[in-house]
Amino acid sequence: MSSLEQTLSIIKPDAYERNLSEKIKAIFIKNNLSILKSKKLHISKDEAAEFYKVHQSKPFYDQLCNYLSSGPIEVLILEGDNAVSKNRELMGATDPKNAKDGTIRHLYGISIDKNSVHGSDSVENAKIEINFFFKIS
Ligand code: UDP
Ligand code: MG
Repeated sequence: MSSLEQTLSIIKPDAYERNLSEKIKAIFIKNNLSILKSKKLHISKDEAAEFYKVHQSKPFYDQLCNYLSSGPIEVLILEGDNAVSKNRELMGATDPKNAKDGTIRHLYGISIDKNSVHGSDSVENAKIEINFFFKIS
């Protein structure tokens, strides 16, 4: 079954600094995810900590927050049929070593932490994450 959804994508610092934003956005568009809104920003460590608070008990949390706040990022609202799962498929596995051929993380990811993109993992979290970055309800 198809349902029209929105999801949040982040082009992380490792991809942004290698000027991969346009290439990554072209993959979304080619796969029928439209970019409703986008913005470039450089968040603080406190903002990264709030965004990633579901991971606060994980051993990699502090490093993750340092990383996401280490440089400019681009945040995108993607919209399309089954946008949440479609974006996750296009991203590939968290660790680029395990990401399928042709996925964004397989093409561009450097390591499990510098893995180029974030994508919401559920419709509910997509709403929370879009609201976090775009302050819309
Ligand atoms: N991460 C990490 N080390 C790990 C697992 C995750 O640095 O062992 C980072 C990685 O950048 C990942 C983010 O934490 O994208 C969030 O982890 P999650 O399990 O939610 O992966 P994702 O949803 O991004 O695939
Ligand atoms: Mg996740």
